[in-house]
Amino acid sequence: MTGTEATSLRHLPAVASVLATSGAATLVERHGRIATTEAIRSVIDEARDAMRATSSSAPGADELAQRAAARLDAQRPSLRPLFNLTGTVLHTNLGRALLAEAAIEAATAAMRSAVALEYDLDDGARGERDDHLRGLLRELTGAEDATMVNNNAAAVLLCLNTFALDRDAVVSRGELIEIGGAFRMPEIMARAGARMIEVGTTNRTHLADYREAINERTGLVLKVHTSNYRIQGFTAEVGARELAVLADEAGVPLLNDLGSGMLVDLSRYGLAKEPTVREAVEEGAQLVTFSGDKLLGGPQAGFIVGDRALIERINRNPLKRALRVDKLRLAAIEATLQLYRDPDRLAERLPTLRFLARTQAGIEAQAHRLQPAVADRLGKHFVVEVGACRSQVGSGALPLDTLASAALLIRPHGSQTWLEGLAAAMRALPQPVLGRIADGALRLDLRCLTDTDEAPFLASLAQLDIDGLAGTP
Ligand SMILES: *Cc1c(COP(=O)(O)O)cnc(C)c1O
Repeated sequence: MTGTEATSLRHLPAVASVLATSGAATLVERHGRIATTEAIRSVIDEARDAMRATSSSAPGADELAQRAAARLDAQRPSLRPLFNLTGTVLHTNLGRALLAEAAIEAATAAMRSAVALEYDLDDGARGERDDHLRGLLRELTGAEDATMVNNNAAAVLLCLNTFALDRDAVVSRGELIEIGGAFRMPEIMARAGARMIEVGTTNRTHLADYREAINERTGLVLKVHTSNYRIQGFTAEVGARELAVLADEAGVPLLNDLGSGMLVDLSRYGLAKEPTVREAVEEGAQLVTFSGDKLLGGPQAGFIVGDRALIERINRNPLKRALRVDKLRLAAIEATLQLYRDPDRLAERLPTLRFLARTQAGIEAQAHRLQPAVADRLGKHFVVEVGACRSQVGSGALPLDTLASAALLIRPHGSQTWLEGLAAAMRALPQPVLGRIADGALRLDLRCLTDTDEAPFLASLAQLDIDGLAGTP
């Protein structure tokens, strides 16, 4: 270290003198003493490194307080809202369904005040969590009884553990699903304490296969909706109706895991049909499980509906307590289910369905409306055009059906690496914008951009430092 460097490093203000500035006082007010001191310490460290590297002179205490302010303001919540323009409506990594306003209001109200979660207001006595939704679920599904847990994975686990602990659970080889990497049916069965008895083959399973496998050790027969894949070609599977009869004869329940169970027929909204919960109940499965945050469009939850005596046994399983749903989500679920009582207005009120039901023409018109502003913003280094694309439902629902949609297609004037730079800069925005890079373009599918999102979306893009993008000249 040279003599002059040592002298100027001596001029670098200490933490205490930066803390004594009026700027720092405001920061302490806003962010607290610990966070402020921490930020000051790190900007001083950075200044020291910079001075060593460039032999520059020491910044003053006020300047350091300003740098600390910039650092503290840049610290944003990790789970902040973003624009999902990936084209996948129910994106598991982006939190799946957006809730209806009624559900948001109900959850907020339940957060602010005490609620009769397990209290019967009529009798002034202890009540049950499930009582709030039992009636609605019976009405909407036709089942005798219903209960809820943390998610559908928990619902399946709980059913298996209740009826097949140390017993056989019989399942077709064609239905041993994996969902999103972490939910694998054989592993869930093992953790539930059930012995998995696989029957049939990958492409063909017959009633006789099940019949031969069922004996006095059987605790449950399992049918799994192959949500995220289809087996096509030379195939055979046994329908739930026949299986329910077989299970009933053996005196064990048939569990039909629907995954993204739907409460209304989607073809009514111009979408391909997914099995409805009511149909699954009518087919005779003694138990039916489905998710709250897939096509149903509510918060994360798992529903189990079916025969009363079986649901009672499930409720007596000590694991139920470990998997139960909190008051926020119960409030949101109740409000979401209420919307299903008026199917005519469902597509207006439920964001998931509203997004899925949007027409390509409508999305294209929106893209043309936004294109000039976006082109204006990015035009120096990128071409912005409107193009057709296809959206996906996501979360394993309707895996083979895509929806005609429209996107802003962004292509670089220069190197392809600019596109990666742009995508990264969009992800780093205070409200990140997520698209998809394919065929040399960054594609922003506008299916999930609501009218009220448009202004904040453009405001977000206005914060991009286009000239400073990694890779651009
Ligand atoms: C999605 C799915 C699950 C898991 O549901 P989560 O709500 O993600 O826990 C289980 N089974 C099937 C058939 C599914 O599609």
